[in-house]
Amino acid sequence: MPESETTCVVVGGGQAAAWIARTLRTEGFAGRLVLIGEERHWPYERPALSKEFLQGTGSAEAITLLTPTLAGEARIECWLGQRVVTVDREARIVTTADGRSVAYDTLFLATGGRARRIAGLETLPADRIHTLRTLADSERLRSALSGAKRLLVLGGGWIGLEVAATARALGVGVTVVEAAPRLCARTMPPVVSDWLHALHASHGVRMVTGAGIAGVTGMADGVAVTLADGDRLEADHLLLGIGIEPEVGLAAAMGLALDDGIVVDAQGRTSDPRIFAAGDVARHPNAFAGESLRLESWANAQNQAIVAARAALGGTGVYADIPWFWSDQYGVNVQMLGLPGLGTRAVARGKPEAGSGCWLMLDQAGIVTGAVAVNAARDLRVLRKMLEDGRAPLPDGWADTATPVQRLPNRANVTTE
Ligand SMILES: Cc1cc2nc3c(=O)[nH]c(=O)nc-3n(C[C@H](O)[C@H](O)[C@H](O)COP(=O)(O)OP(=O)(O)OC[C@H]3O[C@@H](n4cnc5c(N)ncnc54)[C@H](O)[C@@H]3O)c2cc1C
Repeated sequence: MPESETTCVVVGGGQAAAWIARTLRTEGFAGRLVLIGEERHWPYERPALSKEFLQGTGSAEAITLLTPTLAGEARIECWLGQRVVTVDREARIVTTADGRSVAYDTLFLATGGRARRIAGLETLPADRIHTLRTLADSERLRSALSGAKRLLVLGGGWIGLEVAATARALGVGVTVVEAAPRLCARTMPPVVSDWLHALHASHGVRMVTGAGIAGVTGMADGVAVTLADGDRLEADHLLLGIGIEPEVGLAAAMGLALDDGIVVDAQGRTSDPRIFAAGDVARHPNAFAGESLRLESWANAQNQAIVAARAALGGTGVYADIPWFWSDQYGVNVQMLGLPGLGTRAVARGKPEAGSGCWLMLDQAGIVTGAVAVNAARDLRVLRKMLEDGRAPLPDGWADTATPVQRLPNRANVTTE
């Protein structure tokens, strides 16, 4: 069949979906292209939802990835506000909740993730309990914060901390409750957790770590959380920042291979060769980590999507990026490269804990597992290039700020010290 008579269908209306659709066209796909997204908004990027957009200094237009004009020019049919409910892999037909259907030759799943919730909170006043995943969530939280004095954040991970910082900038009093003994413990080494803790405390956030939750109750004008040790915390609003669940329901019903996400190869291909997946929902073999990973980051959503779209058109490139993530809190830019949480030894360049510098993280064998930069994006960029080339700076030289990173003595990132 000539390619112009084939159809690509993209399920999902977020960042990865938009990049798949755009890439298919820029790489010359000439057939029918349908993007089906559950949200009524045109595909957009989410990072600002906990930062500028939440604070009221960013607009929806600024984060939109695919406008009606762009979609028209690229001949991308966008079915928005429509949830895909079934995919018949035999007949290769996708059907939405509204009963619309479309046949595909190649299918892409970019269904992302949904904010995790705590069971049992359904009976509490819905206008006081928040999660933050969509533009609609952010609008709702923004309007809640505008009239609030106190916000309680459950979860000391990146979303919880960013919302805490934004709420403080809006003059709201914030308490963060984290079950683990330290912040961002899943991905960050203790030195970074300690610095984040101090940063938030210095902006007036009350931080309660290592705290289990015994119960959450509604009040006439807010919510109250009782901690396992009996402490009771009251607030006008509660934000659950306790991570996401990959949106794999559809893939599970289709019988695709799953493992905390849809299992894909280095080109984004699922266990069905006609079906690709990318973004937060996909678990890929990560060369840097030496194991499979499911990443929840802006860079991953974009770059994995591009590789998958190209692969579907016969491209031979593989997705081999080193994990990279950033966060902005109180005007401080934090960037994470690789897997810093796997490091057992931190070597500082500059003074990251004082607001400018970069921790290099090494494991027990002396191999660099990653780095965390605080207002030091340039150093991290150079380090990334070095790690991509399979090299790493010698730890002893890393602290030498008089020498640019590219000129620091370095060695292959495989040897032991
Ligand atoms: C508040 C917030 C702040 C963030 N900040 C940063 C940051 O500072 N730095 C960083 O690197 N990353 C950040 N991220 C992470 C980054 O935004 C995500 O990794 C990225 O959005 C993932 O894109 P995705 O397309 O895979 O999934 P999503 O963005 O979740 O998009 C999936 C889309 O698919 C739709 N969908 C799901 N199932 C169906 C179905 N059956 N039918 C139709 N549509 C469906 C969903 O409604 C959704 O619109 C942030 C995320 C959030 C939520």
